[in-house]
Amino acid sequence: MQHNLYRNIPKMDKLLEQESMAALIKSCGREKVVLALREALESIRDSIAQNSTDPFDIQERLSNLESYVTDILTKHHTKTLRRVINATGIILHTNLGRAPLAKEAVEAAVEAASGYVDLEYDLETGKRGGRLDRVNSLICELTGAQDSYVVNNNAAAVLITLAALANGKEVIISRGELVEIGGGFRIPEVLEQSGAKLKEVGTTNKTRVKDYEKAIDENTCAILKVHKSNYRIVGFTEETSVEELVALSHKHNILTIEDLGSGMFVKGFGEPTVQEVIASGVDIVTFSGDKLLGGPQAGIIAGKEHIIAKIRTHPLARALRIDKMTLAALENTLTLYTQPDTFERIPVIRMLNMNREELFKISYELAGEINNINGLDAKVIEVSSQAGGGSLPGKEFHGFAVAIKPSCGCNNFLKALREARIPVIARISQDSVLIDLRTMLNDDYKDLLKSLREAAEAL
Ligand SMILES: *Cc1c(COP(=O)(O)O)cnc(C)c1O
Repeated sequence: MQHNLYRNIPKMDKLLEQESMAALIKSCGREKVVLALREALESIRDSIAQNSTDPFDIQERLSNLESYVTDILTKHHTKTLRRVINATGIILHTNLGRAPLAKEAVEAAVEAASGYVDLEYDLETGKRGGRLDRVNSLICELTGAQDSYVVNNNAAAVLITLAALANGKEVIISRGELVEIGGGFRIPEVLEQSGAKLKEVGTTNKTRVKDYEKAIDENTCAILKVHKSNYRIVGFTEETSVEELVALSHKHNILTIEDLGSGMFVKGFGEPTVQEVIASGVDIVTFSGDKLLGGPQAGIIAGKEHIIAKIRTHPLARALRIDKMTLAALENTLTLYTQPDTFERIPVIRMLNMNREELFKISYELAGEINNINGLDAKVIEVSSQAGGGSLPGKEFHGFAVAIKPSCGCNNFLKALREARIPVIARISQDSVLIDLRTMLNDDYKDLLKSLREAAEAL
């Protein structure tokens, strides 16, 4: 019996001559199709050798070789970014690309990418216009700042700010704020690239206004406050408020700069909003576009007009400038914030605001569907998740998730989910695979179910 099965496997040359393969060769190249075919045939031979699949199944797989090979080609040989389903509940997952954009922002980016736009062209006068004019007026309207400048990301925003204002001078920073922002990059090391000299004051847990004052001398240019956006120091602590720092800076005729990290425009999440930071009187505040703001990767610098003027004209401005697609997405995200009833269209804000009843309802529905899949056992449990991506540290979001007990074991199932045609990223907790629906986007639900079925079948 086994021998017969082996004999049914066609020769490679014959397969490559088939019309269906010709189409694949045309789109993917002969070499890749040969590799994929080899892998497909290898796996069929393995199944026969292990006697693990029944003969009809083998026959079926042989007659569907084309779709089998297509699967392998998409799984292993795509070298482009792939869409994944984020079932971790972590809204700003840096490894998964942080903020998903609002539909309006996506459409604007696509339009900018696919054609010509009035990027630096004034349609009224027919003359050259400023690339950041529109985004600047939105930022000023939303934050109350006099002026702004936008660069590639927040690390770049802090870098250019210090390069333009503090090159060769001293910048005072608290020892409690010398942070690492992820990927092994440390704020102090980024800052030193600006040519500014960092003067550390205070201790990890306590930095008083007196510590700052003692450090000020004729070389001091600014006080830099780095917001604790991805960690908290708790217990026996003391921090100097922005207001105190602003008063101290005024007294000594130096600047106050705040690296806010996550740029929140909406009150009520225990984070200072950008509006509040501007109102406290800082000269410059910098923040990311793709954290709690919910827009594309960008670094926004907002503050006093005469200071922004120095940043705008610094040579690094050209090296760090943002592209037209990002700019289009950012303008449209900010526009949503200008109307009180439209910012809920921003996925990050919607996810942060998702209520428990809503989460319970969709989790319950999904658990029902999963229980119809062979080998999976699902129930709804209570969970707490985090915003992630260097934002809202320590804040827990209480909700519900679907806990799956797969008969094949959690780690195997997690791996199979990652290898599904549309990969699902989930986590393990209490011997179950957790599917947190807080981070689902509109189209995800259907595909999630498909991937769950695929993963269960693969094992
Ligand atoms: C996230 C963060 C940064 C880096 O911002 P990117 O936009 O990722 O470059 C810098 N400072 C603080 C305080 C942050 O939270």
